[in-house]
Amino acid sequence: MGLFSSILKLSRRRSPWVYVLNAGSCNGCDIEIGSLLSPRYDMEQIGALRQGSPKHADILLITGPLTLRSADAVRSIYAQIPEPKAVVAVGSCPATGNVFAGSPTVEDGVLHVVPVDVFVPGCPPRPQAILAGVQEAAHLLAEGKTGRWHKEKHHE
Ligand code: SF4
Repeated sequence: MGLFSSILKLSRRRSPWVYVLNAGSCNGCDIEIGSLLSPRYDMEQIGALRQGSPKHADILLITGPLTLRSADAVRSIYAQIPEPKAVVAVGSCPATGNVFAGSPTVEDGVLHVVPVDVFVPGCPPRPQAILAGVQEAAHLLAEGKTGRWHKEKHHE
């Protein structure tokens, strides 16, 4: 592996930039993500920074069951993140729809719309678990192993 590749790999693992997207959550998961910015959980301890634009991000954190109305926005924001990129589904909602599963207004999971690399279960998950999810995603980015789960959903 060349020097440039080694530096790139180290950068992806040690300083991932994160964009947070609410796809119809109750805000419970978003409040836990907010804790990552506090001194107690401090996302910057692993080098991660929250970004205001998807164009500057490496990792997309998604919360919520993915409402039908938000699906196009999620696709668009995912497309704006430069490659390579990773997606962390925060909470049980983006994994399965959770308490909203079966509703005609939700997709029952983010992986029907974008590939998901890490699922962080819980309703809501603890901040430590979300931080571990970000670390896992950064590791997958560095190893070039992203885009693990994707399942197209066909609407009738
Ligand atoms: S997983 Fe629970 S806390 Fe998180 S958005 Fe869904 S219902 Fe709210």
